[in-house]
Amino acid sequence: MTDTRKNLIGLSREDLTAEMVAIGEKPYRAKQLWHQLYNRGETDFFNMTTISKVMQQRLHEQFVVERPRLEREMSSVDGTRKWLLGFPDGNEAETVFIPDMDEERGTVCISSQVGCTLTCTFCHTGTQLLVRNLTPAEIVGQFMVARDSYGEWPTPDDGGRKLSNIVMMGMGEPMFNFDNVATALKIAMDGDGIGISKRRITLSTSGVVPMMKRCGEELGVNLAISLHAVTDELRSELMPINKKYPLKVLMQACRDYPGASNSRRITFEYIMLKGLNDSAADAKKLLQLIRGLPAKFNLIPFNPWPGSAYECSAPADIRRFSDILQDNGYSAPIRASRGSDILAACGQLRSESQRQKCSRLTERLAQGIDDEHFPAQRQQQAIS
Ligand code: SF4
Repeated sequence: MTDTRKNLIGLSREDLTAEMVAIGEKPYRAKQLWHQLYNRGETDFFNMTTISKVMQQRLHEQFVVERPRLEREMSSVDGTRKWLLGFPDGNEAETVFIPDMDEERGTVCISSQVGCTLTCTFCHTGTQLLVRNLTPAEIVGQFMVARDSYGEWPTPDDGGRKLSNIVMMGMGEPMFNFDNVATALKIAMDGDGIGISKRRITLSTSGVVPMMKRCGEELGVNLAISLHAVTDELRSELMPINKKYPLKVLMQACRDYPGASNSRRITFEYIMLKGLNDSAADAKKLLQLIRGLPAKFNLIPFNPWPGSAYECSAPADIRRFSDILQDNGYSAPIRASRGSDILAACGQLRSESQRQKCSRLTERLAQGIDDEHFPAQRQQQAIS
């Protein structure tokens, strides 16, 4: 029988309070429940000792506390950990934990969509069609699964924990699913629960200009721009969204980003592609482009995936590019390639899973098996 109970994860504080009132509880009960859900990471109402037995039963009858389903977990030798997560409709998305070099702390990279509408040519996820937006529960739930995996519940008072930062840089364009992303990030920021400061959260966009101001005003998180090119010609080839919001418009939106300052610089992500965007002249053009902006750079050696049309720049060229930026006073670290032993390119794990489902389906169809455990809708998903 289908479980029709509502998932409490992903509800804003206001919505959680409204749900408590609707079942006859006092509004302050929502605060106790919030603490259990997001500070203690509790999933079983009957273990919530700050809540009366009567209320536990009432909650159990009406609600569930549900994380995305863990389909696959992979750990790299370098400490990177990757999860393929499943949702009730059969869709999947990826989440990655990338430790800092000292391995004391690190960043959880979260997906905002299944697939992506954009078709950035260097990006593996860009080869996948957009299936749907993720819900707030599915977005914040990714972080909660990561905390489950590292056993980091409850939230320690001193804030000391390995999973210290969040970046919305997984599958999808977060600005195209902004309402759900905003709800999820507000939950993650809430000091009574998960408690990740907005200073430790970064939202990365391909440059959806009309949403950038709202993001800064409503969330106040750090902004990262997937830049990758210094001319409109090349950027439009790499990132077709540039045709709609070309570099001049994008740079102005960066200048207008609320809260950007020397202590909160905008990060420009720049993927290093051999012979395309990695010359000394490109580096100098980049400096002109961001002149006057509180900026820092993240240089990303291209991580090739099967079928990709690009090659990674030579190490010496990347070094030269970085030196030019740094000699002009900008931070421009070269991001070490992480997790290369665990299908690290964004979207690669999901594609691999889709491929496996597809070949299982092919096998089953070849055997003439067409059973109720593999209904038509799932078959269609596996094929597409
Ligand atoms: S880089 Fe980001 S916006 Fe572009 S296709 Fe990949 S996931 Fe989508």
